[in-house]
This record gives sequence, structure tokens and C-alpha cells, in this order.
Amino acid sequence: MAEKIGFIGLGIMGHPMAENLIEAGYDLVAYNRTREKAEELEGATVADTPREVAGQSDIIITMLPDSPQVEEVLEGEDGVLEGIKEGALIVDMSTISPVVTEELSRQAQEMGASMLDAPVSGGDVGAIEGTLSIMVGGSEEDFERALPLFEVMGGTVTHVGPVGTGQVVKAANQIVVALTIEAVSEALVLGSKGGVAPEKILDVLGGGLAGNKIMEVKREKMLEHSFDPGFRVELHHKDLGIALAAGREYGVTLPVTAVVDQMLQDLKTRGRGDRDHSALLTLIEESSGHEIGS
Ligand code: NAD
Repeated sequence: MAEKIGFIGLGIMGHPMAENLIEAGYDLVAYNRTREKAEELEGATVADTPREVAGQSDIIITMLPDSPQVEEVLEGEDGVLEGIKEGALIVDMSTISPVVTEELSRQAQEMGASMLDAPVSGGDVGAIEGTLSIMVGGSEEDFERALPLFEVMGGTVTHVGPVGTGQVVKAANQIVVALTIEAVSEALVLGSKGGVAPEKILDVLGGGLAGNKIMEVKREKMLEHSFDPGFRVELHHKDLGIALAAGREYGVTLPVTAVVDQMLQDLKTRGRGDRDHSALLTLIEESSGHEIGS
């Protein structure tokens, strides 16, 4: 019999991921803080608390904003750990601190359960299309158990090491994405203020060594200044905070990450925390007194 799935956190990412699991034939019980979001999920049973989800599930997936929410949902009152069944598996697919992950995994083990960290990249489009890149930390046995679910939600699924290492790889990913958006923004504003059409800059750079996925995936948003998320500035700021904290813990210097972290804070202060992270462009535009294409 197929395992029964619990799904907690039905936002931009969680909703389509859960939808894909239902479409693949899984029996799913859902919980979200705002109940309507769980009710919108056709074909799922809606639970009143994370504890209730745990009581009805063999594998519990969480897709929540940050470490405090994952802690609340797992170890808080009426949380997953209060209702978890012996032998159950928690799969946290949120992007959170690897240190918090290790602690939660320890608590799960005390309850006779286990945990994988399985953060994703690929954005809302990858979640909708079921093509996410999933980086998984945990035991080989737990990885194999969750693999059929990962294959529904993802395209590239990689077991990267023990618990916590999925989050470490995700932090590395977020460094590259943020710094690339920043570099593309500088290139666009320099080129445009220098008299070149921004489309041409992306076309030319995209065909050479400077070419990258940001230029493809964020092309329209940056050219049109349509910064509906996508991936929100405030979430990426959270992720660089995780990366910087990990750098401090491991004694690794992350000088340019620190600068871009400050730029994301600046954007939040300017009221753009809920915009797509490609809105970093607007910061370079404002400090350069030039909007691309104008
Ligand atoms: P989101 O804010 O759209 O969704 C989070 C959901 O969790 C919301 O529905 C919210 O109501 C719910 N929630 C919050 N606190 C809760 C609680 N205590 N109990 C129950 N439900 C609660 O965020 P998202 O964009 O879906 O991102 C989720 C995670 O995935 C984040 O860690 C993010 O960094 C990561 N991520 C997002 C993207 C992206 O493109 N959006 C890409 C990769 C990874």
C-alpha cells in the first residue's frame, strides 16, 4: 500500500508540490496556518493541527518559510512531534538553518521517527512543473523511502550526505543565485546607461561565457520591471543570513555574499521585501539614476 502523505505549508511552493503528489495518486492530508489555503487543495483531506496531520501520515512533508515556523510546526504545541507515529519520516523541504535541522532530527529520532532535509531550487515554475532540483540530507534508507515522492516533485534529486547537508548545499546555491542577479543588474544598468538596449545586452552576454540561467529565467521580469514573485526578496535575505551564519560557524569568508545581503536588507527597507529577488535591479538603477531601457 502506498504511504500516506501529510503536507504542511501550502504557499507558492507547497501548493503545486502537493498538487503534483495528489495527481500522482497519493493520499494526502494537508495543513496550513491559513486554513483556506489547505481547503483550496482539491483532493486532499484538511487537518486542524500539525499533530493531526502526523497522526494520519507515514511521511510528513513541510514547506514553510523559515526555521522558526518549522520549529513551531514540529516541536510546538499541537505540533507534529506530539502526534508522530513510530517509524514515520519527516521530510523538511523548506530552506532553513542546518543547525536547526540537526536538532529537529535528533528530536524526531527520540520519538522513534526520522528526518530528511530536502530543500529545493527551481522556483515556483519548477514546483508547478514537477522539475525541482532537490538536495537531500539524511540516511540512505530514508532517502530511498522518500525517493518516489521526490521523483514526482523534482527533476534532479541528489542525496548529498547526512542530515543538514541538504541545507548546506542550498545555502551555497542561494549565494550563487543572489550574486548572479546582482551582477546581471550591474551589467544591465551599465550597458543601458551607456546607450545599449537592455535586450541586446542579455542576448549578447547570454551567448558567451557570461551567459547564465538568471538571464533566461528572470529576463522578462527585469526587462519589464514586473517583479511579482517568484521568489521574494525577504526569503532570499533570510537565505543569505543562513549562508553567512554557516560561514561563521565553519570559518569561511563570504565577502561578496555579505554585501548582497546588505543590499537585500536595503530593498526590504524600501518596502520591496515582497517583490521578486530580481528587483535587486531597482537598487542599482536608483543609485545610478537610470532605469534600464529609458
Ligand atoms: P510562502 O510564504 O508562499 O509559503 C509558506 C506557507 O506556509 C504559507 O502558505 C503560510 O501560510 C504557511 N505557514 C507559515 N507559517 C506557518 C505555520 N506556523 N504553520 C502552518 N503553516 C504556516 O513561501 P514559499 O515561497 O512557498 O517558500 C517556502 C520555502 O521554500 C521557504 O523556505 C523558501 O525559502 C523555499 N523556497 C522557495 C522558492 C520560491 O521560489 N518561492 C524556491 C525555492 C525554495
